[in-house]
Amino acid sequence: MEPPKIWREKRQRYLALGISCKKCGKRSFPLSEYCPYCGTNDVEEYRLAETGKILYFTNVSMASNEMAFNAPYCLGIIELNDGIKVTGQIIDCDYKDLKNGMEVKMVFRILARDGHEGLIKYGFKFTSI
Ligand SMILES: [Zn+2]
Repeated sequence: MEPPKIWREKRQRYLALGISCKKCGKRSFPLSEYCPYCGTNDVEEYRLAETGKILYFTNVSMASNEMAFNAPYCLGIIELNDGIKVTGQIIDCDYKDLKNGMEVKMVFRILARDGHEGLIKYGFKFTSI
């Protein structure tokens, strides 16, 4: 786990922030100073929608060291109700109960741990509504 990367992504992960372009009107995630669609820097931060639906999902049984405490876990691509697509862990449910289109909501949890005494990375995961 890279402390500088965790520090850089802290605001977007902790506050679930994306950007809204003032020129073309499109929204995107992750945070950036520039719109990925039209390239302008005339963008503003906005809070991502906290609910959405599962587009795709899979079960992860072999996890990296920092994610091992979660394994096995469900990972999904979620389309938020503002149209943004994000990847996130789906928690508090069994893989066999998941379905494409299932409605989920964003919750704040521990994402990764760097051992017992290392850094803890927080961010959003999803749970069924
Ligand atoms: Zn734009």
